[in-house]
Amino acid sequence: MRVLVTGGAGFIGSHLCERLLGDGHEVVCLDNFFTGTKQNIMRLLDDHRFELVRHDIIEPILLEVDRVFNLACPASPIHYQYNPVKTIKTSVMGTINMLGLAKRVRARILQASTSEVYGDPQVHPQPEEYWGNVNPIGIRSCYDEGKRVAETLMMDYHRQNGVDIRIVRIFNTYGPRMAVNDGRVVSNFIVQALKGEDITVYGEGQQTRSFCYVSDLVDGLVRMMACDGFTGPVNLGNPAETTILEFAKRIIALTGSRSRIVFKPLPADDPKQRQPDIRLAGEKLGWTPRVPVEQGLRETIDYFSALLGTSQP
Ligand code: NAD
Ligand code: UDP
Repeated sequence: MRVLVTGGAGFIGSHLCERLLGDGHEVVCLDNFFTGTKQNIMRLLDDHRFELVRHDIIEPILLEVDRVFNLACPASPIHYQYNPVKTIKTSVMGTINMLGLAKRVRARILQASTSEVYGDPQVHPQPEEYWGNVNPIGIRSCYDEGKRVAETLMMDYHRQNGVDIRIVRIFNTYGPRMAVNDGRVVSNFIVQALKGEDITVYGEGQQTRSFCYVSDLVDGLVRMMACDGFTGPVNLGNPAETTILEFAKRIIALTGSRSRIVFKPLPADDPKQRQPDIRLAGEKLGWTPRVPVEQGLRETIDYFSALLGTSQP
């Protein structure tokens, strides 16, 4: 099949492109390089089944494809808050454009949604039926509400126009090729630990997250795209929940770093707890994460260590 991956030069997108080529597909990678880089997909450029298109999904585009993975959107709070109007345009106008394309060429389209649609959740862990607790006017709203509208658009194009849709709610995912400077907790803590800098825990570090390794996540995306008769939304994530303070200590132990933990102000609307309920993914897709957090973190530490030229104990 010919598969379009928007945001294909980003962290998750580049791993997905690699996996799809490995599965024998032709891949069209579309990106505006806001947070993605050519470096992420460099090794794929020699493959004749791989094409790279520099384009912004806010503008319409005509492409003949069978499948669309719509991943284009900055994901780290620093990046999506850098130009919030652009972020919401990417989720709303960008998703309309990709749905228009899918409708025209009768392609199946999968939307990369997020656990942020649950906001600061009052139900724990979060099942797909939970409608969430989202601030519509806060600094995270450009991302959260944008992604919620994107889900609405997917469902409306499906009901109104019969577009073949899939919605996946991705929980915190980590691994090689996260950007060094994107401000997300995994890259921040590992880079700080490797450089011997202070580890910046926001608030008291009692907020929780559950971290999924990127190969597991990509496997879930591929299974969802291949699954017939199920639109989702479906949660994909690793239920291994940890407080951010415990996580900082774990990174220090795994890197053998001498870094100290320092406490910084908690950003506004930072969700207090997050853990995916993944029973639906198990039932419908036969999917469950396989990579233990310790193993995934070692791979990620090795990646950043090589990138930064630091030696590990
Ligand atoms: P990323 O920032 O590394 O990748 C996003 C990619 O989209 C980048 O390559 C960027 O240049 C591109 N992009 C952004 N705006 C664009 C536009 N208007 N037109 C074309 N390309 C554009 O982030 P990621 O972690 O790989 O996230 C990929 C997707 O998964 C995003 O949609 C994100 O919301 C979703 N997601 C990720 C996580 C996570 O933990 N990584 C969690 C939930 C949801
Ligand atoms: N966080 C932190 N220190 C950092 C970066 C993030 O304590 O240097 C916290 C952040 O406040 C949040 C959690 O780690 O509670 C996850 O943050 P991230 O930006 O990775 O993702 P998200 O909040 O979108 O889940």
